[in-house]
Amino acid sequence: MRTLLLKSLLARPVTIARPAPDAAALEEVGQALEARARRLFGRSITIREVDAGSCNGCELEIHALNNAVYDVERFGIRFAASPRHADVLLVTGPVTHNMKVALERTYAATPDPKWVVAVGDCGCGCGVFEGSYAVVGAVDKVVPVDLHIRGCPPRPIDLLRGLVALMDQSTSPHRR
Ligand code: SF4
Repeated sequence: MRTLLLKSLLARPVTIARPAPDAAALEEVGQALEARARRLFGRSITIREVDAGSCNGCELEIHALNNAVYDVERFGIRFAASPRHADVLLVTGPVTHNMKVALERTYAATPDPKWVVAVGDCGCGCGVFEGSYAVVGAVDKVVPVDLHIRGCPPRPIDLLRGLVALMDQSTSPHRR
């Protein structure tokens, strides 16, 4: 027992080091996003994340945007608990039958102008859940989508680059 305890205390960690984001690339994309948000809205942007039926892998990457490494709030990107405060709906999928009405109501509750971004291979096209009895379809089968960000899951930096592309493709958010 004592030997085992000693061995555990002296053993090196078996985990691998976390992959660090490229700090310069993050700073660049963050500032680009902040500048575009100020140009279009005259202020920061607010995101409401909707899990319409994902495996939560995409959520882990989205949550990472708020951790100490990415800390996107410094670039003026905020996450809100209510769609009534949101400019952008970040939707992970696929959309399940259980979440279809909730997604439709969230979309309706988001004030115009608004953008919808489908996140992950599942949100963009059902991914590994294609053909499941529980699934209605990709996000754009339920609500209009302005941008697809693929990946399983997409990295936080890819999410930020996607948001920059979203703002570049529009001079103003859509009024529907
Ligand atoms: S894209 Fe991948 S990580 Fe995201 S919900 Fe689908 S299976 Fe999960």
